[in-house]
Amino acid sequence: MPGATTIIWFRRDLRLHDNPALLEAVRLGSGEVAAVFIIDEVFAAPSGPARTRYLRQSLEALDVSIDGALIVRRGEPSEELERVARELHVRDIVATGDYGPQGRRRDDRVREALARQGISITYVDSPYVVAPGIVTTKTGTPCRVFGAFQRGWNTHASTRPMPAPSGVHWRRAPSVSLDELDACAGKDRPSYFPDVVDDVVMHEIGAGEVAGHRLLTQFDDRVDDYGESRNLPGRDSTSRLSPFLRFGALHPRQVLSILDGASQGRATYRSEVCWREFYADVMYHEPQSASQSLQPAMRYLRCDEGAVAEERFAQWAKGQTGFPLVDAGMRQLLGEGWMHNRVRMITASFLVKHLHVDWRWGAKWFMWHLIDGDLASNQHGWQWVAGTGTDPSPFHRIFNPTLQASRFDPHGTYIHRYVPELRDVPAPQCLEPGGGTGLLRAGAYPLAIIDAARERDEALSRFHDARERARVAS
Ligand SMILES: Cc1cc2nc3c(=O)[nH]c(=O)nc-3n(C[C@H](O)[C@H](O)[C@H](O)COP(=O)(O)OP(=O)(O)OC[C@H]3O[C@@H](n4cnc5c(N)ncnc54)[C@H](O)[C@@H]3O)c2cc1C
Repeated sequence: MPGATTIIWFRRDLRLHDNPALLEAVRLGSGEVAAVFIIDEVFAAPSGPARTRYLRQSLEALDVSIDGALIVRRGEPSEELERVARELHVRDIVATGDYGPQGRRRDDRVREALARQGISITYVDSPYVVAPGIVTTKTGTPCRVFGAFQRGWNTHASTRPMPAPSGVHWRRAPSVSLDELDACAGKDRPSYFPDVVDDVVMHEIGAGEVAGHRLLTQFDDRVDDYGESRNLPGRDSTSRLSPFLRFGALHPRQVLSILDGASQGRATYRSEVCWREFYADVMYHEPQSASQSLQPAMRYLRCDEGAVAEERFAQWAKGQTGFPLVDAGMRQLLGEGWMHNRVRMITASFLVKHLHVDWRWGAKWFMWHLIDGDLASNQHGWQWVAGTGTDPSPFHRIFNPTLQASRFDPHGTYIHRYVPELRDVPAPQCLEPGGGTGLLRAGAYPLAIIDAARERDEALSRFHDARERARVAS
């Protein structure tokens, strides 16, 4: 019956199970559904080759799961949706809600443009267990600290996933090749990025819904140890589910329902998923925090600029600082498009507090390279570490990269894996600046590029200066 087909516009929900937007499309279309993905240059621009490739793999997996019926278009979403709608005589479109700053603006624009053409679009659900904006303090204001958010979130969080729809007739229409992703990704490459070889070898986690469920089931066997082991990068004991959550091959509802239970590891895991939701909520209420320090006083923090900053940034980005744990993390990022959380904190802290480079440079580098690159988690992960964000006791916490290495990688397992120059250097020497230079052949591994103690003092002095300048200005 012409007019009955409904479009599901896939964005960050590349799955069939537990997808309320898809279920709604199936209901509205009485089982006749067109699955559409639009390559939008605005969203592809800050993404480097690794995440672009991972998105492609996720889309290919989705396409396989709907018998090759995914309709891919490239261009301005309202125009492309309208075009497909005309071709297939569609009046209704459904999509999962997007709560990011750009996504919300785009979705409002698309709704208005389509309404002018007599096409309705409904946004359903969110990529979160509790949609941003729902959890508030007792007085109804947004939560600015994690503890308050988590208490509220716990009372709202329902984890009952829904099944995949059955008996769907997937409509077909002309589609462009996924090669188009490469053509428009990465246009926002900042000039201060150093050149690096793009030879990311994806960790064998796979992409798409089936791979996500496989990984989730495997993790279920080890989640009880998560509380203890999650901070040890050499153990590789975290779930690795972040890229699946990023593109919605898994919804956090599904993750939490499988990992439900009473152990300490499960409780800690639930809390980590809540951090993701907290940051999405902060970004929802404070969209400017994507590019500005959340704490106004910290906007006065003096960062280095020009050639010196660019040189230091390049050494950091390439994993050539002479601080083994920092270099191991940055090389893991370049090699795998992913980095362990503890090491993300240490490398980020090093850039901001030891090298005095603006957190936004580092956030861009991470966003470019991470396959799980997510604006809210990334910008607020950076702001937390930089002491400019939601953390109430922020700037004084300066990670000492050597002490962090002896605490979290005491045998140098992680360092040995990613810094081949140090493979023959045992701990504790391999944890030290320059990798215990005395044991090395000259030039094999860089000498430390800074004196960490001196730069720590410099960071604290800049912090006090920023506070004073903010006080005078207010
Ligand atoms: C500077 C910095 C940048 C970051 N950038 C991103 C990013 O772009 N995308 C991203 O998904 N995460 C980011 N994180 C958070 C965290 O590092 C990753 O989510 C985690 O390392 C992913 O690995 P995993 O799935 O094995 O995590 P697990 O330890 O298994 O955690 C399970 C899930 O909980 C969520 N989670 C865990 N820790 C955090 C956290 N601190 N903040 C928000 N969510 C969390 C993630 O969705 C993760 O998949 C960043 C953290 C820092 C410090």
